[in-house]
Parts: sequence; C-alpha cells; structure tokens
Amino acid sequence: EATLARYAARNPTSARLLDEAATAMPGGNTRSVLFHPPFPLAMSRGEGCRLWDEDGHAYLDALGEFTAALYGHSNAHIRAAIADALSAGLNLSSHTAREAALAREIQRRFPGMALLRFANSGTEANLLALAVAKAHTGRGKVVVFEGAYHGGVLTFGGGPSPMNVPHDFVFARYNDLGSVQALLADHGPDVAAILVEPMLGAGGTIPGDPAFLAGLRALATEHGVQLIFDEVMTSRLSFGGRQALLDIAPDLTTAGKYLGGGLSFGVFGGRAEVMARFDPRRPDALAHAGTFNNNVLTMAAGLAGLTQVLTAEALDALNRRGDALRERLNATLADQAVDMQFTGLGSLMTLHATARPVRSPADLAGTDGRAKDLVFFALLERGIFMARRGMIALSLPFGDAECDTLAAAFEDAIRTHRD
Ligand code: PLP
Repeated sequence: EATLARYAARNPTSARLLDEAATAMPGGNTRSVLFHPPFPLAMSRGEGCRLWDEDGHAYLDALGEFTAALYGHSNAHIRAAIADALSAGLNLSSHTAREAALAREIQRRFPGMALLRFANSGTEANLLALAVAKAHTGRGKVVVFEGAYHGGVLTFGGGPSPMNVPHDFVFARYNDLGSVQALLADHGPDVAAILVEPMLGAGGTIPGDPAFLAGLRALATEHGVQLIFDEVMTSRLSFGGRQALLDIAPDLTTAGKYLGGGLSFGVFGGRAEVMARFDPRRPDALAHAGTFNNNVLTMAAGLAGLTQVLTAEALDALNRRGDALRERLNATLADQAVDMQFTGLGSLMTLHATARPVRSPADLAGTDGRAKDLVFFALLERGIFMARRGMIALSLPFGDAECDTLAAAFEDAIRTHRD
C-alpha cells in the first residue's frame, strides 16, 4: 500500500499521460504487456542501458525492451547506419542489397535457417512458419505448450492461447516429453508442426531441458512433423541461438527482436527444400508479401548490429555476465531465506515467488504475485527498471558495474521488505 502510494506520488506525469492516452486507446494502451496497475511509467528517453521517465527519474534499464534492445538505446554504429539509409531514401519499391546482406548474416549464424524470409514481427514470423509447415505436410494440427508465448494477438488471463488465429492447436506440457508422445499417439497423422520455445520466454524464462528438446527432434522426425523452434527470445543465447548451443537442428526457426537492430522485425527460415516453396519462379510457389518486410531502416540497423557491433565474444560475455548475476541474485534470496528464485539462461532471467523447482508454468500456479509486485516497485524506487512480471534481459551496455548496482539494489529491496 505505502509502496504504491509512493509510486503514484512520484510519477504524476506518467499517470496524466496514461489518462490522456486513454481518450484514444482503450486503457491508454497499445501493447498489453506494458500495462500494470496503477499505471505504467511513460519513458521519454534512452541512452545505452539507461532510461529517463517523463517525471525526470533515471533508471538502469534491466528490461532492454523484452530482449529487442540488445544493443542498448543509442548504439553509434546503428544510428549511423540508419542515418545513412535514411539519406538514400525510404520506400524504394524494390529489393535491395542490404536485405540480401542481412539475410546472409542471419543464415550463416543459425543452423536451422538454410533459407529465410523477413517479416515485421516475431508474431508474423510464427504465423508464417506455421503456414509453411502446414503447406509442406498437408496436415492441420499444431502441438504447442501450455504457458508458451508465440506472439500475439489475444491471450486470455493466462489461458493456453498462444495466438488467436484459427489454428488447430493441441496443448502439451513443457519439459514433459510424455505429454507430447501421448498427443502424437492420438493425433500424429494430422499434426503439421510442434512449435516450441527452446526456453519459455514470457512464460517465465524456464529453460527447456536439452533432453526434452532433443526428444522433440526425434519425435518430430518419427511422425513426419515439422519441428519449429521459436527463437524470438533465445536467439541471443549464442551467435546461432539456443539451437547452436544444443546442436539441435529444427526444421523451421523463427526469430526477430534484436536481429532487426532494434526496429520492427521478424524472420522465419528452415531447411532449403521446405523454404524453396516461396521461390516465386515455381509454379506451386507460396506467396508471402508485405510492404515493410524489407524496410530499409530495419535492414540497415539489423545489418549494422550483426556486422559492426555484435561479436560472438561480446555475446558470450554478456551471457556469462547474466549467469553470474542470476547466481548472485539467487544467493541473496537464499541468504535472506526468501522463498523466491530467478530462473533463466545467460542474459535472460525471471523472478518467481517460489523456491521449488520450476520446470513448467504449471509449477507457478498459486504463487504469490504480490511478492513479485513488491520487488518490482521497490526496485523502481531504487532506480532499476525491469518487467512487472519479473523479467530481466541484459543489454550489451549493461556491464559489470551495472550488475553490481542492480545486485545491491535487489539486496536492499529484499532486506527492507523481507517481512
Ligand atoms: N515469440 C516469442 C518467444 C516472444 O517472446 C515474442 C515476443 O515477446 C514473440 C514471439 C512475438 O514477437 P513480436 O512481439 O515481435 O511480435
């Protein structure tokens, strides 16, 4: 109560801006994930791994736009590439050299994308991957996992609803190969695809067991089903995503977020013989259009990010920094005997209000959302911005010093509010 009252008193401009926005958008919101009571902060500016809100408070940005801001808010190379592209004109009504260059950079990193195409978001990339899987197999059903997130348009109160499109989804349990086996025993000949995040992202950064993911690969092969890895979040866990780390080749892969350099982006790709259906020279070609699929600013920003900013060494170092931070935060919770934990991998982690093992979202049922809220608001007061749902996604500018600041603020927040 007192924490919420302080929040409201500290942020009058954010409150007012939400009210004004609500005159044009329902609830003042156009991205459901960003809303939380009493009102979310309105940000005005970002630089490196720092953010400033409309009331003038500065924050260390530990959210990094839910992974899309891997490069931080103002990388000089990306800004220069965008300025350069801008000076040559937007909307060129044609394909461009930059587009092919970005495609080749992504292709050479991700084993599961022998051929690929671009879209405007991760949501779109998943819809397209499902379309490919259905066209390729001539089947209609799709296995997805309870608590997964593949983008979206409608999700209802935590219900099992990854996308609101008319797909014939059947739901299995994450990290439970038996539940997938059972579905395939019942529906195998009708199943076009298994769509899976190698680590649940929005579902709580819950890693898929390597044996579970390898088991999905084997089951998909056995049943003639297309295995789709949604690496929209996990693509940052190594240069070639989690698939490269685990040496598992899915039939199709989707990604987005940071690969577009911080601008709207999605990409889907897969085995050459499957993706070749999009070759417009073929009589049986699948069509896939989209005015902004190759928009020049995204192509330029994505290419600059991959070729001028992101090295495999820098990405590995960031993920090691994340591993160390997660261990440190969990050590604080253990020292203070607080029944909470962070799960995740590398630079991604999420706070859960339970100390029991978390292997699927079902393990989070009945945990105390208010304890997480308290941490969220207590960290905001201490100048740390993370997701209300407890997610942290480090960016390249988020260095050791920033991790120290975050860990100290977290310890102080936990000590202060432990009881
Ligand atoms: N898939 C996963 C695993 C995601 O985490 C997200 C977004 O958070 C998406 C798909 C949707 O991507 P976008 O928001 O670009 O549509």
